[in-house]
Amino acid sequence: MKARSPHKDAPSTKSPRAVPAESSANKRKTTPKKAKYPDIRRDLERQRTAILNEAGDVLTHRENLEAFPDVSDQASAEVDQNFSMRIRDRERKLLKKIDEALERMNVATYGICERCSGDIPYKRLKARPVTTLCIECKTLQEQEEQARG
Ligand SMILES: [Zn+2]
Repeated sequence: MKARSPHKDAPSTKSPRAVPAESSANKRKTTPKKAKYPDIRRDLERQRTAILNEAGDVLTHRENLEAFPDVSDQASAEVDQNFSMRIRDRERKLLKKIDEALERMNVATYGICERCSGDIPYKRLKARPVTTLCIECKTLQEQEEQARG
């Protein structure tokens, strides 16, 4: 197992803070929009790295199998290829979601439900950091999808 170097061409996560600094706004409890979920950002970035590493491992694994052209191994190599393609497809989608979630963090729309504009509870974000919907809206969406068939 070799550790891959962190992704080099990752989009910069440093965005200028557009939020004006409020020095004496402590009377009311206002939630700052920036850097709301630093730990979830870390989770997302870790997950992103893990997927990229795994994708590399799957490829390496496949090459190893193809290096032994035994009949039974060939069959399993084909299965493995289909399997790895499916994984890669799923990973690509997940990677996209992670990138989008990180992007939402940069523009401070992360954790806001796309549908009702309500805050998505921290617990849900922690469990499913790429989500864009609160649990109520997600349930509604699933019901609509089922109704559509
Ligand atoms: Zn919602």
